[in-house]
Amino acid sequence: MKRYVSLEEISDGKLYKAKDLARADCLGCKGCSQCCRGMGESIVLDPLDVFRLTTGLGRDLQSMLSEGSVEWNVVDGLVLPNLKMTGAEEKCSFLDENGRCAVHDFRPGICRLFPLGRYYGEQEFWYILQTGECNHSRAKIQIGKWLDTPDLPRYEAFVWEWHCLLTQARKLQEENQEDEFSKNLNLFLLKTFYMKNYRRDDFYGQFRERISVYREIVPPEEDSLQRY
Ligand code: SF4
Ligand code: SF4
Repeated sequence: MKRYVSLEEISDGKLYKAKDLARADCLGCKGCSQCCRGMGESIVLDPLDVFRLTTGLGRDLQSMLSEGSVEWNVVDGLVLPNLKMTGAEEKCSFLDENGRCAVHDFRPGICRLFPLGRYYGEQEFWYILQTGECNHSRAKIQIGKWLDTPDLPRYEAFVWEWHCLLTQARKLQEENQEDEFSKNLNLFLLKTFYMKNYRRDDFYGQFRERISVYREIVPPEEDSLQRY
């Protein structure tokens, strides 16, 4: 989700890489769960998140949509799924009665990242430490460790490729609003990366298979994949 604010407004002003230390470790959260409530539509799910949740829970995305833990929303012009906040407390439906995440092992990437965020440049992305988000005492931790995500190089390559793909899809839609293909582009993207069930085996291999299908119809822009 794009935010049109300066780095200084929302962060400590520094750009971090995964090897860097940042004061992100909230030391177990101790049942705080503040960032699992009232988050609106901001916990947007990428294909890896859907892979994690659907294989972890043994359910498909359609059943999660039907039960109300996930919903569709328009994010910067594209329809994408996000975790749905529910009830009077506006809380994530995966938050248990003890204020703990019931899907901790397969929680989405944004939940792993928080209170860090990402800042995307032309050729690469960085991590930022959001200053207005988590007010609890925190310790320094290496960002790669905080992300709790195996095979970080492949993960970061996926994050970048997905960002480039969404950026291009948004641009194509803006430029060709009358074109039939552009109108159907979002639907094609959803079918290719979200609605078709993932197998339990290696996500990145499956993502590559789907990218090949997608790229037969929507070739990449030049230079978009240079950095990773
Ligand atoms: S707001 Fe901070 S301390 Fe509270 S649950 Fe989120 S990350 Fe943990
Ligand atoms: S998936 Fe877990 S960590 Fe993420 S918002 Fe829901 S309860 Fe919180």
